[in-house]
Amino acid sequence: MLEQLRSVTQAVSLADGQQQKLDVIVQQVCQALKVESCSIYLADYQFHQYVLMATRGLNPDGVGQIRLGFNEGIVGLVGQREEPIRTSCAKEHPAFRYIEEANEDPFNAFLGVPIIHQRKVLGIIIIQQCEARDFERDEETFLITLAAQLSSILSLSELSDLFDEHNGERFSRTLPGVAASDGVAIGTARVIFPLENIHSIPDRKTDDIDGELEKLGKAVIATHRQLEKMSRRMKGKVSEQELSLFNAYQQILGSKGLGAEVEMVVREGYWAATALRKVIQKHLNEFKQMEDPYLRERANDIEDLANRVLAQLLKTSYKPKVIEPNTIVVAENFTAAMMAELSLKDVVGVVSIKGSSTSHAAILAKALGVPAIMGLEACPLTRVDGKQLILDGYNGQLYVSPNQTLVSQYQQLLEEDRQLLEDIRKEDNLPCQTKDGQRIALMINSSLGTDSNRARQTGADGIGLYRTEIPFMQLEQFPSEDVQACIYRDLLQDFRGLPVTIRTLDIGGDKQLDYFPIEEENPFLGWRGIRVTLDHPEIFLVQLRAIFKASVGFDNLKLALPMVSTNEELKESLRLIQQAFEEVKEELGDDCSSLQKPLIGIILETPAAVFQLRTLAKNIDFISVGTNDLIQYTMAVDRNNLRVKNLYNHFQPAVIQMLKQVACECQNLAVKPQICGEMAADPLGAILLIGMGFKELSMNIGSLGKVKRAISRFSLEELNQLAEDISQFETASAIRSHLLKIVEQRGLGGLVRAGN
Ligand code: PEP
Ligand code: MG
Repeated sequence: MLEQLRSVTQAVSLADGQQQKLDVIVQQVCQALKVESCSIYLADYQFHQYVLMATRGLNPDGVGQIRLGFNEGIVGLVGQREEPIRTSCAKEHPAFRYIEEANEDPFNAFLGVPIIHQRKVLGIIIIQQCEARDFERDEETFLITLAAQLSSILSLSELSDLFDEHNGERFSRTLPGVAASDGVAIGTARVIFPLENIHSIPDRKTDDIDGELEKLGKAVIATHRQLEKMSRRMKGKVSEQELSLFNAYQQILGSKGLGAEVEMVVREGYWAATALRKVIQKHLNEFKQMEDPYLRERANDIEDLANRVLAQLLKTSYKPKVIEPNTIVVAENFTAAMMAELSLKDVVGVVSIKGSSTSHAAILAKALGVPAIMGLEACPLTRVDGKQLILDGYNGQLYVSPNQTLVSQYQQLLEEDRQLLEDIRKEDNLPCQTKDGQRIALMINSSLGTDSNRARQTGADGIGLYRTEIPFMQLEQFPSEDVQACIYRDLLQDFRGLPVTIRTLDIGGDKQLDYFPIEEENPFLGWRGIRVTLDHPEIFLVQLRAIFKASVGFDNLKLALPMVSTNEELKESLRLIQQAFEEVKEELGDDCSSLQKPLIGIILETPAAVFQLRTLAKNIDFISVGTNDLIQYTMAVDRNNLRVKNLYNHFQPAVIQMLKQVACECQNLAVKPQICGEMAADPLGAILLIGMGFKELSMNIGSLGKVKRAISRFSLEELNQLAEDISQFETASAIRSHLLKIVEQRGLGGLVRAGN
């Protein structure tokens, strides 16, 4: 059974487009279960109907025509109940509804199973047989398992078909993702793909067919040569049989082989790399459906060969091009490093299939003021290149090939956004305070790309978080004490007179150093933050010494420790801090007169630390709440896992309760609480935090002006009341809606959505 299931899902995943996938399913299910009919109905939510989309056994002319209301027939009942229904004689079932044009008179036995993706019924798969019998349990479990496996493939293929121009009228082409960086962008999609992976090549057309053919020819010749070389090198080292593999490769590539097929597709007007991908996917499909495991394995050889030709093609012909103005960059996994490489002059937005609102690329996008959507799983990467897009970074919606009315609406919103930002900038010099004059400190989370001049212009009260791992990530080995000291000194110098919180190295989780890889099954529950640096005092001490040396002559350093969850960790860290401090003092000798012991704090990001705040506070001067991690550890959700993204929300009542407890506890302790997670950058989150009692917020530079404006429009009393009022709401969405309503009432909606 497992083998049959595997072969059906594999065939489906390789079929091109939704209709082909559905046809493959019904055909393969009939074969695997030896039944006379298999059909698939898909849900059309616009009309609340199920539409017959593929069939074996029923009238093929009914495909696309036969429709049943969500409450009609046994099909409707399967959808309503969200569970399988089987009967030995469908006609006798009370919910049966006769459809003349379906030609289902000969069939008696019926089994229908819902196809559900993320709690939504996508459709119903049905098997039928003439013989009036109950389907066996394992036939039912086969269909249930298949439906569960197919659901995600189908949900993506449904969206993929939105990219066919002729389908444009049937659907609104909106893809939902995770709002990662505020703002709106209108531009053309440019897919950035990792080199040498044939499946990531986008659909791209060309006018220069001869040029593409020439590139293809050269790549094929270069691959031939490479294979010859490999074969020569292997001669005598492997058996003749194994050597013949290279000959087989050569033959596949030969004049009537793969090369010729790709040439034909190029002549249809495609880029050579796109044509190669199309041909290869067709062949892989055929190979992977083969019964014989040996032949099936050959699919890997074909894939390998294609990647070799591709590598040659990309090497000789597709040096990264200059990005055109008004580009929205789309990538499978947009990383912080990719962000750093972009020419921000021309890139107006960023879309990443993977990642979330607190992944590092998102944090950088915010810092750089580039609107971004992450976690756009539904975006078929190969089909989006060159399409016009509207990116709404406020609500995480991407509109593909939008109609002119929508473009005009968004152009208007873009203009309103621009005016609002201009208006907000006029308040740069004003201090942040509530309507009744309560001063609030707004600080900046500094990282790659933060322009110190601009940061100072915003009127920020200092650097609330400097993530030291970012410069570590840009290097090829651990930076020396001197190199680090230089970086930290520049920072302390740039913000002279204002506090600068430097956080010690916080690697692990999703923050990896190429030269110090940490491989774990559950990286966020593993070796990260202070746990790593305490296990490597040689790395920790070098960093601490560099920080202290950099601070000579300044009095603005604050030192923060990431991911502390026990008192032992804090005590051991303090011991090493003291050791490094003494060493630097001794080394500097007479020059150490201006070396001061900094304020020391922890980033509060585990519930364990929250519950031990009283004890931890005895030995520290401040705490900074890292809501990004505190949310994930409170809600038990990986902050980058898209399946549970709805749980990762700073308005979850449990999170709010946790934060209220921290604010309340800190009032009785001598530590000042600050917030440095992304919640502080959300104007709705920020006003709530002030209402809870936090008086210092640190955020990306791009959000500072908006947060300042939001705070300035409320009195402290109003915000305290707001924090009280939200206790009556029981869900994250109810809390957010309430905050949104309040903000809209004050005419501040433009701070959290497109337009003014
Ligand atoms: C946090 O966890 O909230 C935080 C500020 O740290 P990071 O996002 O770097 O994990
Ligand atoms: Mg953190």
